[in-house]
Amino acid sequence: MGILDGKQALIVGVASNRSIAWGIAQAMRREGAELAFTYQNERLKPRVEKFAGQCDSDIVVPCDVQDDVEIEAVFEHLDDYWDHLDILVHSVAYAPKEELEGDFLDNMTREGFQMAHDISSYSFAALAKAGRQMMHGRDGAILTLTYMGSVRAMPNYNVMGLAKASLEANIRYLAYTLGPEGIRVNGISAGPIRTLAAAGIGDFRKMLGHVESYAPLRRNVTIDDVGNAAAFMCSDMAMGITGEITYVDAGYNIVGMTGY
Ligand code: NAD
Repeated sequence: MGILDGKQALIVGVASNRSIAWGIAQAMRREGAELAFTYQNERLKPRVEKFAGQCDSDIVVPCDVQDDVEIEAVFEHLDDYWDHLDILVHSVAYAPKEELEGDFLDNMTREGFQMAHDISSYSFAALAKAGRQMMHGRDGAILTLTYMGSVRAMPNYNVMGLAKASLEANIRYLAYTLGPEGIRVNGISAGPIRTLAAAGIGDFRKMLGHVESYAPLRRNVTIDDVGNAAAFMCSDMAMGITGEITYVDAGYNIVGMTGY
C-alpha cells in the first residue's frame, strides 16, 4: 500500500533523467499514484514519452507554459482520460543564461526579468487556474519547486532569485485562495542538484562543493530526496499543511556562518 494510492497526478517539468520532476514522478508512482506528464516542446516529446512509459502512463501532453492555449489544452486533454485531478506538480523555471552569472545589475535586462517571472512564477498560478475545476472537491495538492536564492542574496542566481521570491508569494496566495476548496498549495526549496536548468547557473559546481562541506548533513541532496518529500507533501499524511515552503537541502539553510 502506498501513501498516494488512488491519486491522479499531473507532472509538469520532466526534461531528463536528472530532472527533479523525474525524481518526484518516480516517488509518486512508487507510492501508488497514476501519472500524466507534459513536455515543453517537440524535441523533448519522445524523451518524456519514454519516462511516462516507465511509470505505466501513456498520458503525455504538450505544454509550453508561455502559451495560454496550451495550458488550457492540457486540462481539456486530461479530461478525456480522468474525471478529476488530485495532484499538480510544477517543476519549471527559466531565465536567460547571461543573466545567471556575474553582476546582477550589469547583466539584468527588462526582457530577461519578464521572461524569468513569466516562466518561473506566473506559470504556477496559470496552471492552478486552469486545473482548478478538475481539482475541485478532491482534497487536492499543488506543489512547486523553489530555491533559497529567493530569501538570501546569492552569487550568480540574480534575476532568478527575484522570480523565486514571486513564486513563493504565489504559493501563499494560491494556498489562501484554494484552501476553502480543500486544495493545499506548498513548495519545496531544494538544495543544489546537477540538472539541465542548474547547468545555466554560473559556478554551479562550486555551490555543490560548498554545500557538501558546510550543510549539517555534509552532503548534497538528490532527486530521490526531493521526490520522497514531494510524495509526502502531496499525500493525505500532510493534510494539515498548506502555504508552506519546506527545505530539502541537507539543512544548509539553517547555517549562519560557513567556513568553520
Ligand atoms: P530541469 O532542467 O530538469 O527542469 C526544468 C524544467 O523546466 C524542464 O522540464 C523544462 O522543459 C521546463 N521549462 C522551462 N521553460 C519552460 C516553458 N516555457 N514551458 C514549459 N516548461 C518549461 O531542471 P530542475 O533543476 O529539475 O528544475 C526544476 C525546478 O526545480 C525549477 O523550478 C528549478 O528552479 C527548481 N530547483 C532546482 C534546483 C537545482 O539545483 N537543480 C534547486 C532548487 C530548485
